[in-house]
Amino acid sequence: MKRVAVYPGSFDPLTNGHLDIIGRGALLFDELVVAVLQNTSKEPLFTVDQRLRTLRHVLRPMRNVHVDRFEGLLIDYVRRVGGSVIVRGLRAISDFEYEFQMALMNRHLTAEIETVFLMAGEDYSYLSSRLVKEVAQLGGSVRGLVPPQVEKLLAARFGRHPRRKSRK
Ligand code: ADP
Repeated sequence: MKRVAVYPGSFDPLTNGHLDIIGRGALLFDELVVAVLQNTSKEPLFTVDQRLRTLRHVLRPMRNVHVDRFEGLLIDYVRRVGGSVIVRGLRAISDFEYEFQMALMNRHLTAEIETVFLMAGEDYSYLSSRLVKEVAQLGGSVRGLVPPQVEKLLAARFGRHPRRKSRK
């Protein structure tokens, strides 16, 4: 039986931490669906279409990874694509409580779908979309933290600021 896993998130923007989790998930499951949450309540930096385009471009070489969007209950979406696993990434302790609540709520809603937590490499364990956004907005370099496509999109959005040298 083919094991399909869904990795849901906002990916606003996609970071190398997400890519690390996607790489690990793709090795563990027959098919990994990266699903962008259409969340109307959040004020996004990039539109869902922009995020889908970026994800599709970056993930094109990965044969068993697909990109999609979803709204509504995650477990309904997972069922619809024939999935049995939800993949989430865990960073420091701060992620734990929220992820723990969500995993248990999803298990309460359906016992057939299991949540699996993966840890990114330690280089990315501090990395979040929110932090990347803040740094880019303030003119800092995000090179090595996001794929080059995302770096370009951030530069186009916020402009390139020359980095100020600190005075001795
Ligand atoms: P959300 O919008 O739910 O905060 P994101 O869309 O940023 O989450 O990320 C989706 C998933 O990827 C979440 O499970 C999040 O914990 C995980 N994730 C994001 N960045 C990293 C990282 N650097 N290392 C490990 N997991 C990560």
